[in-house]
Amino acid sequence: MNIAGETPRRVLYPSSAAYFSMEMGLDFAIPTYSGGMGVLAGDTLRAAADMGIPMVGVTLLYRQGQFRQHLDSQGIQSESPASWSPKQLLEPLPARVSIDMQGRTIHLCAWRYQVRGVTGHSVPVYLLDTALAENLRFDQTLTDHLYGGDEYYRLCQEVILGLGGVVMLRSLGYGSFETYHMNEGHAALVPLALLEEQTGGRDLSRVTSADIEMVRRLCVFTVHTPVAAGHDRFSLELVGRVLGPERTRLLLSVEGCRDDVLDLSCLAASFSHHVNAVSSRHAEISRDMFPNRTLHPITNGVHALTWTAPSFREVYDRHIPEWQRDNVYLRYAVRIPLEEIQRAHALAKRELLREVEQRTGVGLDPGAMTIGFARRATAYKRADLVFSSLDRLKEISRQVGPLQLIFGGKAHPRDAAGKAIIQRIFEAAAALGGSVHVVYLEEYDMALARYLCSGVDLWLNTPQRPLEASGTSGMKAALNGVPTLSVLDGWWLEGHVEGVTGWSIGNGLDEAGPGDDASSLYNKLEYVVLPMYYGRPSAYAEVMRSAIALNGSFFNTHRMLQQYLLNAYMPGE
Ligand SMILES: *Cc1c(COP(=O)(O)O)cnc(C)c1O
Repeated sequence: MNIAGETPRRVLYPSSAAYFSMEMGLDFAIPTYSGGMGVLAGDTLRAAADMGIPMVGVTLLYRQGQFRQHLDSQGIQSESPASWSPKQLLEPLPARVSIDMQGRTIHLCAWRYQVRGVTGHSVPVYLLDTALAENLRFDQTLTDHLYGGDEYYRLCQEVILGLGGVVMLRSLGYGSFETYHMNEGHAALVPLALLEEQTGGRDLSRVTSADIEMVRRLCVFTVHTPVAAGHDRFSLELVGRVLGPERTRLLLSVEGCRDDVLDLSCLAASFSHHVNAVSSRHAEISRDMFPNRTLHPITNGVHALTWTAPSFREVYDRHIPEWQRDNVYLRYAVRIPLEEIQRAHALAKRELLREVEQRTGVGLDPGAMTIGFARRATAYKRADLVFSSLDRLKEISRQVGPLQLIFGGKAHPRDAAGKAIIQRIFEAAAALGGSVHVVYLEEYDMALARYLCSGVDLWLNTPQRPLEASGTSGMKAALNGVPTLSVLDGWWLEGHVEGVTGWSIGNGLDEAGPGDDASSLYNKLEYVVLPMYYGRPSAYAEVMRSAIALNGSFFNTHRMLQQYLLNAYMPGE
């Protein structure tokens, strides 16, 4: 055995990786993400920077960002572009590359963002941009909108991410990576770029199964949602038009196709030696989607330092100085005195209420149990479940102790059902009058998520089973000692210990009607959570501390990325 000459870090982390994601939450000021998956991509790269992993990220620039959300007095959502200035936040690079698409040439440049880790290592992210004068007017807009436009626009963006991303990395001097990680099916054209490299641009019909096997050894794929709408499927006509007959024939030969459509998740899985789901339950229920593959679970996490409020950072720095470098140390939060947890939480709550007042003019009561619910507004998340019976909610608030609720979340501009949910919350708020205060904050984003997940007393989650692949906002709450009250789905099946880290809604895994879940939710609030909050504050503080020690120490991206390294990037050889 010869391990001489290797530094310990090289032995632990020999793997270089290029990480491709359609969206990335890189910085609170850069609106290039829409929800949990983009935030996860950013948190993954932040962990890679902390851990000194030789990784790079690739995404698109999105000059128009994600849209801005406006809500009128009835809760009707309208949108406007979220223009931002790449020049102020990113470094423009001189490199220019081009790809062929639909018989024409698309020219690309890239901007660089450095994700800096706590130990000084940094991970560069390249944001691809087609707004170059040498492109056709339409092609110049291809990197403007995140999840905007029609199917044609989306497929063009995916060609830019996959084919353009690989070509750009080469032009920047990256000769090879041990792993190409496709975060969600949007990145499924990365393997096609690798195959084109391998054939040196020659006739793609000469690609052999050995070539494909070689590419498969390099590729890893993470699937993020069991919801059909979350997977891109394109008609063969559209794929043929954009990619041309040769590339299309090659993709279809690799069992990416089902029912006369090209299914990008299926394609990404076929080209990968390791496919993972984002929680144990998600792996179980997604088996049917990939019948011939083993779906390995690697449960999501969040980047602890990013999501921890200043008041808790101060407490952790004092008691567990190692926590920033290695989030697993948060397990030692068991030693933090309860009074310090309570004090740090009171500060975080004050910051949140101050922010709410600044944004809305509403002064909430710092002494009242405050429940938070914020995530993308879409039907299966059932944000309005807590309003199933306004009478019951009023009764609980009157009998057991005052309740107030803070909501946030944008609906996709074309998601009518998601928009309707926001309106129903506004209606409920009006009907409740002063008996239960309800605030809906516009413009839910990472900055607001940090206030909300750290400043409320209880984090609520009521998805329809089994559609919550993982969920990450409850993990952010746990890091700040905020317990979760949730339906048992996604990550909560792993993080939930009843009465210890939070509480469950409903009976286990079975699909329950909204009525059953609502009455379970009310019962928990009335008989368990509120009586403890008002009557036994130190018992409540114990739950807060256990949420940190048990869940904060595990549901973070340091642990998650180590699992990627051990299981996906360095598969047993
Ligand atoms: C963390 C986060 C999410 C994910 O929330 P879920 O509970 O997983 O749905 C969505 N949007 C923003 C802005 C976030 O910070």
